[in-house]
Amino acid sequence: MTQLGKVFLPQEDGGSRDKQCSVCGREHPGTEETDREGGVHKCPPCLSYEELGKDLRKAQYMWLRVRDMAKLDENTPPGGWQDVLAAFGFEAGVTEKVPRPGVQPRVVLALDDQATQHLAPDRNTAVGRRFLVNVTPLITQLDLENYRDQLREDLKGLEKDDVKPFSLLEAQSRGIHRLGVLRMDLDDGGKLFSDGFVEYDDKGAVVRRFATLSRVAALSFAISLFFEGWVEFLAQEMNQETRKDPHRGDTLYSIYSGGDDLFFVGAWDRVVELARRVRADLTPFAAGHPGIHASAGVVLVGGKYPLYQAARDAGEAEDAAKRYERRVNGAKHPKDALNFLGQTVSWSLFGLAQPLVEEMATVSGLAQRLERLTRPPEEGGQGVPAALLRILMRTQEQHDEAAKKRRMCGRDLNRQGEEQTLWGPWMWRSYYMLKRMARRQKERGGAEIEALAEQLKGENFRAIEWIGLAARWVELLSRNSASR
Ligand SMILES: [Zn+2]
Repeated sequence: MTQLGKVFLPQEDGGSRDKQCSVCGREHPGTEETDREGGVHKCPPCLSYEELGKDLRKAQYMWLRVRDMAKLDENTPPGGWQDVLAAFGFEAGVTEKVPRPGVQPRVVLALDDQATQHLAPDRNTAVGRRFLVNVTPLITQLDLENYRDQLREDLKGLEKDDVKPFSLLEAQSRGIHRLGVLRMDLDDGGKLFSDGFVEYDDKGAVVRRFATLSRVAALSFAISLFFEGWVEFLAQEMNQETRKDPHRGDTLYSIYSGGDDLFFVGAWDRVVELARRVRADLTPFAAGHPGIHASAGVVLVGGKYPLYQAARDAGEAEDAAKRYERRVNGAKHPKDALNFLGQTVSWSLFGLAQPLVEEMATVSGLAQRLERLTRPPEEGGQGVPAALLRILMRTQEQHDEAAKKRRMCGRDLNRQGEEQTLWGPWMWRSYYMLKRMARRQKERGGAEIEALAEQLKGENFRAIEWIGLAARWVELLSRNSASR
């Protein structure tokens, strides 16, 4: 077996549970129980990544130099990230101050615009700028005071400016306390490179190929610039928004963003909004090119759910979004969708208006309206009973059940292969219930409930396929809010 092959072999240690790392699940003889979190075991590689994460939080510069490749010894268990780089013949580090001139050739990269200004090349140093999504929420003094009782165990040993534990991000969600996990990536990234630089004639024959090195490099750079530069800007901007609320502070945490994909966690309500803003900004960035879009999966997890499992769940949600196909006038529009609360909808239906507007034609617009309607009057809402949400949820449920049955019988497509609207008694029942509610709620949002009923009917009840999603979303936003 090659040296490299051995690197990827599992290193077993006789199946001792103490030696199994709670983070990555692998066994390592150096695994130890951490002082702060009782019962949590971490292996040396994971601890080294954790350290790196801490250092990165304040890092201004990254340096890199070539060294002799370190010899791999198959009997030695894996070490930290420095050992991994050494095996590939590199040495690297991050610093807060400009690294002092050295005698060996190296590259120093500034991690933000300000840091760039203090950087100058010398005879051994090449300099540059590296975009790096480095969004890390930190604990504030207020957090320590506000959550002292509620999160006693989780905050034990933590100080101001330490990285916020997931449980705190969860507690700082609006409504139900859950951690939101987002995975998102560019649709058909590979195809963009393989087919994007080819011109075809009407019969599909290649007329011209223009994939020059400079064009491919420019496209590749543009995509990274968005996912490594702009995504960070958006997330920081959103953290600034919640920072104005002393009970929240920073609510988004970047686990990874680079190339053409991203992985974030945070307060669940903010994670959904981040996905929406990222997708909304991608279109103008790509100058409105219809072939450039992205799909996303958002899942809500709670408690001590392991991150690698949450990553897998969000990945499955993202895969579901990638399988989505919207048909407009017989033409297929694949992907460009979001899977949220277990349902996939196209981004255009989800609503990409910037800033978010209240409207009845999109999921997020309708959710915004339902939220205002059902919020108590003392919080600026109309005080419509939550029964409104239940009517909408139940209506979609009935529709979905019938649609599933019809699909199983293979009767869901018409001759053009388009999915047909499913008619059923639930349509008029929901119309009737909304009208009745509007009459009873005359003083409190009656006119708006009436308008909702009419709009639903006016569009042949098409919205029945997603009104329940909007209602469920609002229902989750309203949970627990009284305990604040
Ligand atoms: Zn580990």
